[in-house]
Amino acid sequence: MILHIDMDAFFASIEQAINPRLKDKPLIIGSRANKMCTVVCAASYAAKALGIHSGMPSREAFARCLDLEFVAADQSKYIWTSEQIFGLLKGYNLPLNYASIDEFQMELSGYPNPVSLGKEVKEKIYANFNITASVGIAKNWLLAKLASKLNKPDGLTIINDSNFEAVLRAAPLDKLCGMAGKNGASLMAKGIKTCWDLYLDLPAFFDENPGKFDENCGKSNEKPKSVSHSYTLPKAQINPQVILAWIRLLSEIVSERLRHKNLVSATVHIWLNGPEIGNFGAQKTYQTPTNDGYEICQRAVKIMARSALKSPKIRAIGVTCGSLSWGIYQPLLKEETRREGLIQALDRINNRFGEGSIYPAITALTR
Ligand SMILES: [Mg+2]
Repeated sequence: MILHIDMDAFFASIEQAINPRLKDKPLIIGSRANKMCTVVCAASYAAKALGIHSGMPSREAFARCLDLEFVAADQSKYIWTSEQIFGLLKGYNLPLNYASIDEFQMELSGYPNPVSLGKEVKEKIYANFNITASVGIAKNWLLAKLASKLNKPDGLTIINDSNFEAVLRAAPLDKLCGMAGKNGASLMAKGIKTCWDLYLDLPAFFDENPGKFDENCGKSNEKPKSVSHSYTLPKAQINPQVILAWIRLLSEIVSERLRHKNLVSATVHIWLNGPEIGNFGAQKTYQTPTNDGYEICQRAVKIMARSALKSPKIRAIGVTCGSLSWGIYQPLLKEETRREGLIQALDRINNRFGEGSIYPAITALTR
């Protein structure tokens, strides 16, 4: 048995919980601060009722509702809340999976009363964070996730042998994971309109993939403490552009290794060695972990800029990423999703054609 927890309109609900003036109002969270020139990354239920949904340009949302409330996304707030909820769920000592920032799964094999556990989890989340979650319970993660979507918000749905057919008949196909986009549309065009239609056509689909449950948190002892790379330059360098290029290159190497291990890092440490400065090291921990080479480089440069070093001569450089966690943070905002797509494409090219086949232009200064 899997218990799937899906937070209701997560980002919007968090903002409403923090600011009661926004409660029950149509509200959108924008991925950028400019409210007329961004994309909706979350909508409250009152906004959803007006046909406003995530991915919609904010201008269109305001056209649908003149007194729409607007808050610019604050990722650290959402990540913090998500981690707190995860921590609360860990207290049950059941196998637990962090499916996404607003979805969690528990494995309940042999658990005596899943429904009362589902109720308790919902109540605890509400009592602690003043936001609601919808819970789905079923024999595998696919069905449990579907169940969580069927009675939103604040729902609790179980799919078992006795109601299987009735629930699937009433569930539109696009509620099923993976069926919201093209796959679903092409099946719908063939007349497969509900989950039950799909079951009649392909019953195995609903039995497969129970193994997708992947308990990341149980592997924490295999996790390295840090990932780092350093390099001694052919000769001491004073040109800030060339030094920046080396920091970027080292950041890219480290980030590539983090991504390979499915890790993200919150702490960046930069180490420099030079004839005048000797050994210099400084670090900072950020609220939002990353495995993006560009972001790691930006952080390293900021840490360096805050130090008293004034364009020193540099002989060796090291970049270390610490405070590692499993790569559980999916990109939250549209702009980040684009960047994530770019990084994945670069990784694919380098995996196929060999390390360093494609690299940021600035690192050419190191060659
Ligand atoms: Mg959700």
